[in-house]
Amino acid sequence: MDLNISGRRALVTGADSGIGLATARRLLAEGATVVMTDVGQERLDTAAIQLDAPEGKLHAFAADITSTESVQALAEHVLAAVGGIDILVQSAGIHGPAGLFHDISEADWQHTLDVNLMGQVRVLQAFLPQLRDGGWGRIVFVSSEDAVQPYDDELPYCAAKAGVLSLAKGLSRSYAAEGLLVNTVSPAFIATPMTDDMMDRRAQQLGTDRDGAIASFLPEERPFIELGRRGTADEAAAVIAFLCSDLASYVNGANYRVDGGSVATI
Ligand code: NAD
Repeated sequence: MDLNISGRRALVTGADSGIGLATARRLLAEGATVVMTDVGQERLDTAAIQLDAPEGKLHAFAADITSTESVQALAEHVLAAVGGIDILVQSAGIHGPAGLFHDISEADWQHTLDVNLMGQVRVLQAFLPQLRDGGWGRIVFVSSEDAVQPYDDELPYCAAKAGVLSLAKGLSRSYAAEGLLVNTVSPAFIATPMTDDMMDRRAQQLGTDRDGAIASFLPEERPFIELGRRGTADEAAAVIAFLCSDLASYVNGANYRVDGGSVATI
């Protein structure tokens, strides 16, 4: 299936790891020019080499999405390198603190919201002029199952991701008439460094290894993932790439779950 995005220019945040990296790979394979960004240049360059892209098709600029200056500088680099973007995928994020409400400090709340919600706002503020420039655009936010099915041991993350969902839905009304469509992908339990860390912490608590932690986490904590396994970053990237494509031309303000059925409601 041709996604018809050859020649489109895409910025992917959180692109040196997990879902962001898989999305960068997928968009490159579809012929898009991709700009990867993440917090550290060294890791980004290593990831870029791994993608082995044709000359001129891949760029990698580091930026910290908690810093307005850093994100503004990124927008200038992107403009100079590729002349602007048509596609924005916001995958950067952190899990934030684990624990019940009474164990979580205000500083932890602020940091989690700053990366996961305000980070996405900052990136969009910097890139909206470029996205509105061409009369065709796609924005895909990466939210989470937690946005609609909050777990009480990760509330800052849940609240930030619910904010992302609301932001995306609202934005989908603002620029659709200009051809700029906004959607959200909400994954659950995808095998990336983020869930590796979660499972390693659980393994330590239970005195088992990562596989043991996953085997008990699924029935105990994510009982509706009937597939009985973690998803892969490629499975999330495939849906993101579709929403970035020409094929999704009548999809706007939607939230696509890539969660193996984890969210219990319709
Ligand atoms: P990951 O940890 O592999 O990737 C996240 C990336 O975000 C990292 O490369 C990290 O460096 C980057 N990042 C963090 N803080 C940053 C900052 N201040 N500036 C720039 N970049 C920053 O995790 P992932 O699982 O690929 O997560 C991708 C997205 O998917 C995240 O938004 C996450 O919340 C969401 N998500 C993941 C899962 C899952 O099961 N893995 C489930 C639901 C939602």
